[in-house]
Order: sequence, then C-alpha cells, then structure tokens
Amino acid sequence: MNDNVLKKEFSKKDVQRARNLISGNTSARTTEGVGYTKKHEHRVEGDVWEENGRTWTIKNGLKQNITKMDKFKKMGKLPLFCPECNKLMKKNLDKQVYPAYQKCFDCVVDYEAELQKQGKSEEYFNELRNQHIQTAIDGYKDFMADRMKESNASYVTEAGDIESWKGGVSQEQLEKELQEGIEFLENLKVK
Ligand SMILES: [Zn+2]
Repeated sequence: MNDNVLKKEFSKKDVQRARNLISGNTSARTTEGVGYTKKHEHRVEGDVWEENGRTWTIKNGLKQNITKMDKFKKMGKLPLFCPECNKLMKKNLDKQVYPAYQKCFDCVVDYEAELQKQGKSEEYFNELRNQHIQTAIDGYKDFMADRMKESNASYVTEAGDIESWKGGVSQEQLEKELQEGIEFLENLKVK
C-alpha cells in the first residue's frame, strides 16, 4: 500500500468520525461493513445476552426480557418480617395476603375489623377492588407496550437460530386490542 492510498483511507475515516461527532452519534462505527450485521445468532435455551440495552434469555423456546421477569418475581416476594407489626411472617395465609396488602394476615384482619367498626368497610372494599383492577390495567399496558416495541418479535427455531416474525400482528391491531382490554377492565371498577 503506498502513501497516497493510506492518506486517502485516513481522511475518509476522519470525515466520517467528524460527522458522527457533529450528529452526536459518537458510538457509531467509522469503518463500514466488517462484522456489523448479526441477523442469525445461534442461541439456545437458558442463554443470556445483551441486546439494545436490555438483557435477554430464552425460556421455553421464546426470547424474553429478563428485567421484566425479575420485576414480576419481586412483586410477590414475601419479606421475612411484616412491614407493619414487624412480626415474623411464616404462615401460609401471610404469603397469600402479602402481594395485595403488603402486610401480614393478622394486620389485614385487624385493619379490616377497625374499618368495620368505623362503618367504612364498604368504601374500603370498593377502593381495594378498584386498586386491584388498576394494577391489572397497568400490568396489561406494560405487557402490550413491550409487545408493540418488539414488533419485530423473534422466536427460536429448533436449530437454535433466532428468526424474526414477519407479517405478524400489526401495530394497529395491537393498539385496538389494548384499548378494548383497558375499557373492559375500567368498566369493572366500582364508580
Ligand atoms: Zn403484621
């Protein structure tokens, strides 16, 4: 390679680098081509990898977002002690009421008895019902937002290749489903 060719190469890269800096695209590659596309990665059940700033894995043959799964796991996780009375939570009933009430079973019983004494229980149970519905709506919105974001959803073939779904459910169809679902849930609320 003679000097002229080298100079030419350098200047081409430098121009591209300068363009990237100006456009704020500092992480962009200045070299074209090499090892850039990765359409068919070989992944198998249990693999964990980073992609678009998120951590993914393959569970039951489907590509899934790990952060999302962790969030759902944490929601129902039982702490050792009740946040209200600080007593050890060990009963099976504690496990059942904690995800919804964030306190132990005894505290829930006490709280509801107190409300009944004050004649506020109907109001309370209506509010509770609405809260549960709202939680379902929020979870549903999250779920659908993820589905829409991953409109190029992919699945894993038996050979372990990740392939994109083409011509799957359209964005409009998903949005329509989302609105219908929310409407249905909203109507279950006590007004
Ligand atoms: Zn308690």
